[in-house]
Amino acid sequence: MKARKKILIIYTGGTIGMIENPESHALEPFDFDHLIDNVPKIRMLDYEISNFQFSKPIDSSAMNPSHWAEIAAVIEKNYDNIDGFVVLHGTDTMAYTASALSFMLENLDKPVIVTGSQLPIGEVRTDGEENLITALQIAAAEDENGRPMVREVAILFENYLWRGNRSTKYSADNFNAFKSNNYPELARIGLDINFKKQYLLRTEKKGSLNVKYDMDTNVLFLNIFPGIRKDLVSYILNAPGIKGVVLKSFGAGNAPNESWFLDTIRDTINRGIIVVNITQCTNGCVMPMRYMTGKELSDAGCISGYDLTSEAAITKLMHLLGQGLPTEEVKRLMTTSLCGEMTI
Ligand code: ASP
Repeated sequence: MKARKKILIIYTGGTIGMIENPESHALEPFDFDHLIDNVPKIRMLDYEISNFQFSKPIDSSAMNPSHWAEIAAVIEKNYDNIDGFVVLHGTDTMAYTASALSFMLENLDKPVIVTGSQLPIGEVRTDGEENLITALQIAAAEDENGRPMVREVAILFENYLWRGNRSTKYSADNFNAFKSNNYPELARIGLDINFKKQYLLRTEKKGSLNVKYDMDTNVLFLNIFPGIRKDLVSYILNAPGIKGVVLKSFGAGNAPNESWFLDTIRDTINRGIIVVNITQCTNGCVMPMRYMTGKELSDAGCISGYDLTSEAAITKLMHLLGQGLPTEEVKRLMTTSLCGEMTI
């Protein structure tokens, strides 16, 4: 007889576990036991389910690297005894957490399925029940060799399973709240869970799970727009302690070609700060050599983030800077796909 799959649910907070405050009518996090009470169907799954919850469940807008470290530590501690992990999380920063975990959990070989919901699980029309049950089934799924079907961090939401570091929240009210604009779905959820095996991460692991906890938060986004002020760009890029910038440029990686802009970027890079160029477009890739404006940025020392999402770009930069690597090595790894986050 086959052993029952062991799944650990890590409950961080978010709408999935929220309840209406009877006085203020605002949504507030509640105790995890309430969640299980609201989904009695979980008991119909033949898994051994255990749970861990944040001592104080949070709205995911309050998420920060110390919470990522807490999730990663729970995974590390239970890694050898658990077949799959389901992380319940608010949708607002879910793509950041999934991206961050993908970089932190080096040599991950088991499923880490992040999910949440748009409506609280206690509501009649909730999407939380379906998402939780499907996430548990995906975390328990095996391939034809009895190995975990998913061996990466992924986001399950409504009809799709997406690679975590390729996902982005695109809708504040649609049940299909997530998209991956530059990478196909890992599974389509309909009557069945239809895995797209050709898209699942299948890299050779170089050892056992190695959790990289350190994240350097001396990073920022510079989101440009026509009319952006010279003094403000200079002010931001001279912020004390800053080590990395994700420049959100136009189209295929273009920015104003006025000399003050390029000079400010060049000066920033000359001060040892890493500037990564990603596109503001929801789909597509930075192609620095396509237009003169992009080429000038690249000549100034700006590195290409190819088709990285904002969430993956900023968390990857935090992760690499957190490892204390030399600047050139951070640049090299920023332009290397570490766990399927970019197409070079
Ligand atoms: N504000 C909530 C959160 O991100 C929204 C949600 O869960 O969907 O925690």
